[in-house]
Amino acid sequence: MYLKKRVYGQNNSITFHSEEVMVRRFAAVCMIFLTGFVFTIGTSHAQSGKVVDLSHVFQPGMESRTFDIETFGADGVEPADQLVQGYWYVMHNVTLHNHNCTHIEFPYHISERGDDCASFPLDRLCGDAVVLDLRDIPAKSFITAAQMEKAAQKAGGIKNGDIVLCNLGYAEHYRTEKYSEAPQFSTESIKFLVDAGMKMMGVDATGVEISGGAHNVNHHALLDNNIALIENLAGLNKLSKSRIQVYAFPIAVEGLDSFPVRVVGIE
Ligand SMILES: [Zn+2]
Repeated sequence: MYLKKRVYGQNNSITFHSEEVMVRRFAAVCMIFLTGFVFTIGTSHAQSGKVVDLSHVFQPGMESRTFDIETFGADGVEPADQLVQGYWYVMHNVTLHNHNCTHIEFPYHISERGDDCASFPLDRLCGDAVVLDLRDIPAKSFITAAQMEKAAQKAGGIKNGDIVLCNLGYAEHYRTEKYSEAPQFSTESIKFLVDAGMKMMGVDATGVEISGGAHNVNHHALLDNNIALIENLAGLNKLSKSRIQVYAFPIAVEGLDSFPVRVVGIE
């Protein structure tokens, strides 16, 4: 209504209208530049970030621990009279052991008062990450602190607040006998990473604990320091850089110590 009045009103109104048109044209030009600027930044960011899946694909019924799905027709839930005959419309019941396939562990795993899947801070589950190449460590041997330090130096060092992903080269052996032959982490090697300021750790192996060793000593070294642990990582060999961005968010379930997680690396 206001604009219409100006267009068809008195001279002073028309003059005012033309000023407004100029202002609007100026604003439009600014918007075009701004849109182009934002679009350029957006596309350049998207183009520079190669997205790499660092999780294994779940195979229901094929995992070493329970992961079964039961498919049922959603017409058992939705009113049947709203469904067309033969229409594919399903839902699932899932029975899941939470330490399964690629999963992430939180302090509640070994500490009654520790954070669980729902309460653990999100800012410790994403950010800058360094990928350590430990593929030359012999099978079944212990990774020493010195070997870990050497790998860290080769990767450009560990910065305070880094996520550390350890590439043992075993992801391709997942679901085979050979997977259990992966090198083990000495407690000193874990402590080296903790002292360097690591905020989250991931490994392409069953875990970090020493078989037959002291009770959960490596888990305590991590989880007691609020360092979440991802087990059974995949895809590390697809990365071409040692410094990337990582995002690892499980769903927020109250009262769970661990849950499967989709880990994403962006380089
Ligand atoms: Zn686990």
